[in-house]
Amino acid sequence: MIWVTRSQTAACPFCGTLSTTARHDSFEKPLQDLPQDGRAVYHGVQRQRYVCANPACERDLFVERLPGFADDGERKTLRFQRACVVRALDSGCKPAEDALKREGATVSNDTIARYVKAAARQLESNLARNDVRVLAVDDIDLRKGDKSSGCTVFLDEETHRVLIIVRDDRTKMLPMARVHNW
Ligand SMILES: [Zn+2]
Repeated sequence: MIWVTRSQTAACPFCGTLSTTARHDSFEKPLQDLPQDGRAVYHGVQRQRYVCANPACERDLFVERLPGFADDGERKTLRFQRACVVRALDSGCKPAEDALKREGATVSNDTIARYVKAAARQLESNLARNDVRVLAVDDIDLRKGDKSSGCTVFLDEETHRVLIIVRDDRTKMLPMARVHNW
C-alpha cells in the first residue's frame, strides 16, 4: 500500500513550532503493519518535508511525523508493536515471533524483546507519576476470546496511560506488574 500525506501543517519535532510551508516529498523505507491473510503488510508512506517557521530552530527542514501510526525511526507501525508486546506477555518473545511469522509477518524475537522493554519502561515511568486523578479499571483478554488469558488493566482515566497489568488468576503476575507489589 502506498500512502501520500495531505497535511497542511506540521509541528517541528525539534522546537515544536507549527509550520505551514511544505517543500518536498520524502519517501522512506516501508513500514510493516499487522499481517493479513498469511502475508506481511507494508505501507509506503510519502511524507512531506516542511520548512521550520522558527528562525531560532536548529533545523531548517524537518520531515513530518506520523503520530499514532508509527514512532519516528521505527520500521513497524504502533499497532504491530503493541501486538508484539501483548503476545510476548502471554507466551514469551520466541513463541510470539513464531506465531507472528506463521501469520506472515517478518519480525525477530530481539525486536519483540526491544518493544517489551520499551513498554515496560513506559509503564514504570507512568507508575512513577503522581498526577493520576481518576483511576480506571478494564478487563482484557491477551488472546482474543480466550478467558484464560484474562488480565486486569489499571489506567489513568484522563490520559489513558496504562499503569499496571495484572493477570486475573493473580498467581502469574506479568513482568510489567512486578514493580507493584500485590
Ligand atoms: Zn523547528
